Parts: sequence; C-alpha cells; structure tokens
Amino acid sequence: MESSVLQGITTELGGQCGQSIAPTDRQESALFQEFYRNHWFGLDLDWRWVTFGDYLNRLEQAGTSINFGMQVGHQNLRLISMGYACRAASQDEINRLKRDLAVALDEGAFGMSCGLQWAPGFFSATEEIIQLGKIVAQFDGFLAFHMRSEGDKVLEAVAEVIEIGEKAGVPVQISHLKAAGKRNFGKVNRALEMVQAARSRGVDVLVDIQPYGPLDRTYAAENMWMRSCIPPWALAETGGYHNFQQKLADPTFRARLRHDVEQKISPLWQSSIVDCMFENVGWEGLVLGTTSCDALKPHVGESVAEIAQLWGKDPFDAYFDLLQMENGVASGALFFMMDPPDVRTVVESPYAIPEIDPAPRHNHPRKHGGFVRYLVDYGAKDGAMTLEEAVRKITAFPAARLGFTDRGSIVAGHWADICVLDADALADRANFVDTAVSPAGVVHVLVNGQFVVQNGEHTGAKPGKVLRKQDVSLSASGAT
Ligand SMILES: [Zn+2]
Repeated sequence: MESSVLQGITTELGGQCGQSIAPTDRQESALFQEFYRNHWFGLDLDWRWVTFGDYLNRLEQAGTSINFGMQVGHQNLRLISMGYACRAASQDEINRLKRDLAVALDEGAFGMSCGLQWAPGFFSATEEIIQLGKIVAQFDGFLAFHMRSEGDKVLEAVAEVIEIGEKAGVPVQISHLKAAGKRNFGKVNRALEMVQAARSRGVDVLVDIQPYGPLDRTYAAENMWMRSCIPPWALAETGGYHNFQQKLADPTFRARLRHDVEQKISPLWQSSIVDCMFENVGWEGLVLGTTSCDALKPHVGESVAEIAQLWGKDPFDAYFDLLQMENGVASGALFFMMDPPDVRTVVESPYAIPEIDPAPRHNHPRKHGGFVRYLVDYGAKDGAMTLEEAVRKITAFPAARLGFTDRGSIVAGHWADICVLDADALADRANFVDTAVSPAGVVHVLVNGQFVVQNGEHTGAKPGKVLRKQDVSLSASGAT
C-alpha cells in the first residue's frame, strides 16, 4: 500500500478479477496456497484465516495506512465448493456458491469480482453469474468483471456483462476495458457505445481503465503472468501449476501446447487474449517482468523474442523453457498489446474510472506512478480534461460507485482523506526499467485526518480503516 499512498491514493478496493485473499477453505488450504502463491500473489502467507470477515478482522488488528475495502472473488467461492473443477457448475453447486457469497457479503464485501478469462472461472456459464448477481443485488453491491475476452471476442464479452447486469438487476463494472491485439484496435469505441446504450435503458454499467501509456514502446502494456499464454486445458489436465511445470519436460506435451496455440483448436480457449498475442502482437510484445528464478533475472525487461535470440532457440521453446525455470512461482510479464489511442478514448469516456491494478509481485510502473502520470497526461498537459475533472474521476466518481456518502469530496462532515499536490511539480518517475520509483509532486496525504505522507515522505502512520459495505454511510468523526 506504500506505493499507493505515495501517489496520493487514500482508499483502495481489493479483491479484483475473481481473486480475493479470503475466504479460503480450511480443508482445501493446500489448494488455495498452490493457487494463490504460485498463480497470483506469489506470496508466502500463513493462511490462518478462513472467512472473509476473519481476514478483515486480522487486517484491522495489523493496521493499514490507507482505507481498504474488498470484493469477494468468484474464483474463491468456486475453489471452496468445487475445487479446481474446470466445468460448468450444477444447480446444487450454484446453490452452494450463492450461500457462501451471501456470507461474504454479510461480512462486508462490496460485491463480487469475476475472472472469466482464466480457469476455473472461465468455465462458468453466464447463468451461474446471473444467479450470483441476484444475491449481490440483495446486498446493494456490484459485480466487477475481468471479462471472458479482452481480445478477439471483447464485444461478445461486453455483451455478456451487460446481459448479466440486466437479468440480475445488479450494477456491473467492466474492469480495465481494453481491445488487445492489432486486429481488435478500435473496438473500445463500439464497447463504449454498448455501455451507453445499456445505460440508457437502465442498466448500471461502468468501466475501469488503466490510464497508462506505452512510454518508449509502440503499444501500451498490461501486466499478467508469463504463463497467461497457455491454454486452460493444460492446467486442468495436469492438476495445477507445479505439475504443469514438471510436464513441460515432456516434448510431446510441448508439441500439443504449441499445436493448439498455432492452430487455435482448443474449444475452451477461443476467447483468450492469447491468439491476439501470438498473431497480432508477437513475441516481441511479451516481456519478462518479475521472476524468482536467479537464472532468469538478467532477462527481466527483455522480450521473449530477444531471449529466444540470445538462447539460439525457437520462441516457443524459449517460452516453454521460461515457464519451466520458474521454480514454482509464476513469473510476471508485461504484454504490450493495447493501442494508445484506445487507452485515451476509454480514459476520456464519462463512464470510465481510472485504476492502477497494483497486484502483488506485478511490476508495471503504474503501480508506483500511474495516478500521477494520469493527472499529468490527461488533466494538466494537453488539456483534454481539466485537472479538476481528472481529479473527480479518481475521487468523487469512484466513491459514489462504492456507495460512500462521506468520502470522495472535501466537504464538512466527510472523512478527511486529502491529497495535497504541487501541480507544477507532478511527475511520474517510474518506467518499464525502473518500475518502483515514487512520483514527484505529491506533497501531503492525509487519511482520516492524519498525515501518512508529509513533505513527500511516508510517516509510518496507520490511520486507515478497514471498510465494510455496511459501514460506508455511517456518519464520520474526525472530519474536515
Ligand atoms: Zn483483471
């Protein structure tokens, strides 16, 4: 959270893209550890919490420098009820998902997030999410979607989100709207038209956007895992990432993976971003980010194309070697696959809320300077938006989305979450080589009336509050 507050962020909503750190299942904790440690967070945690409420209580005891709320991850609910099953849920299973979802919402979740691009969320039918969305609606929450496709089938994925919002009667949020891959560039325009049309008939749909440009590269980057290019069946068939890595020693297995990627024959993989990567952006657009493997560390910042050339290998073999060398913890990767004009189109949409998506162990420079770069690029430099409007889109607008009536604006009676900027000095100093550099121009940050950043330095204070959906409209003390 230090990287967030040093760029002026006072409140964060976690648990995005289908994954939240809670709830877990005591019986299946090994499954959770494997899933989360290897696949997503890359963290060694003690996993002593079980419920969503347990985790929030523990966080509250530990203290936090900024305010933190969380959505419950759909993948968590699925892992608890169905393990790693890569198939549609039965009605009995959906009923269990609904029951566990209601518990998490009752314990303070702001809604549910879905990650429909990866296993096992990928295997959920639309109807499953509609039924869960109706539960979220009962708690006045919202559904957020890392959509089923951000590439070739992005418009079908937008239609699915809107359908779910409409049929479940629940607000829906499209996370980091993008159109990945050259042949999809421009599709965000149609996506935003669909959002506008849905809103005009009463569907409460909004989008998020990572407002970060390509810097010195041609395309803007998303941050995912190096393993994000493998077809979903590979993990399902091998039973998890560790086994998958072992299996990569088998040339026949590699040949099957390559065949499916090249021929795009996997019936369960038609909507992935991956076809866009290989066909539209290419190996030069896939760059090694973070890694726990010492032998790979010299290659951080290099593309798979560059690494393949250094190793004198075919890019597919170099890619499989990279995955095999990861020591059980998936490497982070940067995917340079978005068209900068598309990013601008979405940022400037009245339906878009900027986000930075700071996943643990990811190393996109937006994690440290994303909001400052956004303010400079969109609010101060070329006047596309006024600075005031750019600020509103990252304060009052998202606060209203979360239902806050006492945060997001500087008003008597609100919590004093305040960022003091020196507009002339604002500068994002992070880049794709030096990713973990704090920005300039963020002078003071107060959270609930206390300085967390003073004269650009973190004070070590932990005045942040753990936010529960039920508490958002309770009257404030310690106000401005
Ligand atoms: Zn996501």
